[in-house]
Formats: sequence, structure tokens, C-alpha cells
Amino acid sequence: MYRLVQNLPNILIPWYRANARDLLWRRDRQPYHVWLSEIMLQQTRVEAVTEHYRTFLEELPDIKALAEVSDEKLHKLWQGLGYYRRADNLKKCAQAIMEKHEGIFPTDHASVLALPGIGDYTAGAICSICFDQPIPAVDGNVLRVVTRLMCDNSPIDEQKTKRRITQALEEIYPEENAGDFTQSLMELGATVCLPNGAPKCGICPIAELCEARKSNTVLQYPVKKEKKARRLEERTVFILTCGSRLAICKRKETGLLAGLWQFPNIEGKLDAQQALDTAKEFGLHIRNITLQIERTHIFTHVQWDMRAFYMTCNNMTEEFTWTTLDEIQSTYALPTAFAMFIPKE
Ligand code: SF4
Repeated sequence: MYRLVQNLPNILIPWYRANARDLLWRRDRQPYHVWLSEIMLQQTRVEAVTEHYRTFLEELPDIKALAEVSDEKLHKLWQGLGYYRRADNLKKCAQAIMEKHEGIFPTDHASVLALPGIGDYTAGAICSICFDQPIPAVDGNVLRVVTRLMCDNSPIDEQKTKRRITQALEEIYPEENAGDFTQSLMELGATVCLPNGAPKCGICPIAELCEARKSNTVLQYPVKKEKKARRLEERTVFILTCGSRLAICKRKETGLLAGLWQFPNIEGKLDAQQALDTAKEFGLHIRNITLQIERTHIFTHVQWDMRAFYMTCNNMTEEFTWTTLDEIQSTYALPTAFAMFIPKE
């Protein structure tokens, strides 16, 4: 266990105040806003989040509105951000706040942490940014900054590394301006101490303290455990149209993309004749195949190699929901893995 320089907040807070990016969710410290932005920003770039954040708040301006929204509308608002479970957890959490806290976000750390979908990082971010409590929020950015600062070669994807860095930060967290200290660490990681071999040490406010910079070993940090290779899955996707109608169906309620809408698809890559035979098994009379394309979509642990057949049909079956392109744009949220096959008008 090492000790971080006690002076770190005194250097980083003024730096943050002078250099912080003007982001929509930094304009106030309302817990609903901070919480929503933190969840949206997980695994998603700031540029992609900004417009979604604005629209989401226009449609669902408070916790009550979020608790009462239909899944369909929620998924539509989330479309493009991916990892839809985050949206489902937001709604569950809003419902818990309505039931257990009379619609008001709790302020004590234990109650925040007990809410569904809120882990150590998000609880720390909310408690420090909204309520100025000295509680660290340790994400990938912060782990990268600290492991470089201290030449710490423990793998950052191990829980014990995260715990140790959280403890080291707890010891130096300021009693005042805790929120600005949290944001300063995040901001340093996001704009200066960048990943993938591109840190801007020349403009870094803590360069003088940084062990990795001093020993010229910056690129050796952070260390990660060896990743398991992604599992490869092949799928055949059916884009079935009957007049102006298009077939979609719901995924099962568990597993990858649980409960979301999709184009009908099956495991394996079929050739054209096999695809026609399968469509026949769906109960469809196929007029012709108008297009065949190949696409890849990468999830965290799986890669889908997909072959899509665009087919025109003479009939519609009850097995699928037959919708229009307009409804797909306005009502049904198709995750990116399938949205890439939406036919052009
Ligand atoms: S000096 Fe470089 S490596 Fe060290 S914290 Fe600053 S940006 Fe990161």
C-alpha cells in the first residue's frame, strides 16, 4: 500500500476549475443529472452522450417521469448508446427512489449504494459531486492516472487494485470541494493523461510528481490482465418486407440484448437456398432475394459475423410484428447490431 501525495487536491482542484470542459451535465449538481450522465458515459464517448442526455431530459425531466416511462420509450431514448441494461437499471433505480425515498435522491452513501444499478464508482461520483462528501469515484481514467503517477504495475482490471487505489485516495480526499477533486481526476484522465500511448505529459499539472514520467516508463502503465479472446458467432439475419411492412420480433428476456427488438435471425451462416428454405419454414411465401450483405458487430465478449438476406414476401405471418420504416424510426428501438440493416427508403 502506498501513500499518495497529500497535496494532490491543492494542485488538481485549481487546475480543474481553470481547464474543465463545459459539459451539459456540469451546469448544475442535481443528483438526477449527475447520475444520468455518469451512467450514460460508461463505455460511451462524451460526443455520443451529449445529444442523448439533452433529449432524455427533455422527455423525462425528473425521477418520477423516469420511473413511469414505458420500456419501449425508454429504449428508444437510449438507442445508439448500447448496453441497454443500463437504461433498464436507471428505471428500476428511479422506481426504488419513488418507493423508498419519496422520489428524492438519498444523500447518504450507504443508501445511494443500495440502489439498483449503482455501484462503487457511481455512488462515489454522486456523493462527492452532488453532496461534496469525501468519497472517491474510481473508474478507468482514475486508475490510469494513479498507476502512472505511482508506477503501480498491479492489473487495473483486478478488484483488489481498485480497492487499494480507492483506499489511497480516501486518505487524501479533501473535506471541502470533494466534488471538484473527483472531477479533476476524471478530467485529467479524459483530457491529459490519455490512454493508448498518448498522454500529454508536457501540459500535465502533476508532471513534477509523476513517477512514470520521471522514470520514462509512462507507456508501461496501466497494466491489464491478458484478455480472453472474443467468442465468434455466425448469424443469418432476415430483412423481410411485405409491401411497406417489415418483420421484427422481440429477443428473449435474458442474455445478450435481452428484451430488445430485432430482425428475425438464426445461428449460423446460410447460403441463399438455405435462407429461402428457412423463410418458408417461417410460413412465408418469398417472392425474391433483393440483396445479400455481410456485416460484423462487436460486443464486449462476443463478435457476431452476420449475413443478411433482404427478401420480399407475398404474405405476413403472426410469428412476427410487421411494422413500417416510420414506426422503426419513431417507436421501436433496434440495437446497433440490427439497426445497421434497416433498409434505406
Ligand atoms: S505526467 Fe503524464 S503520465 Fe504522469 S499523470 Fe501526467 S499525463 Fe499522466
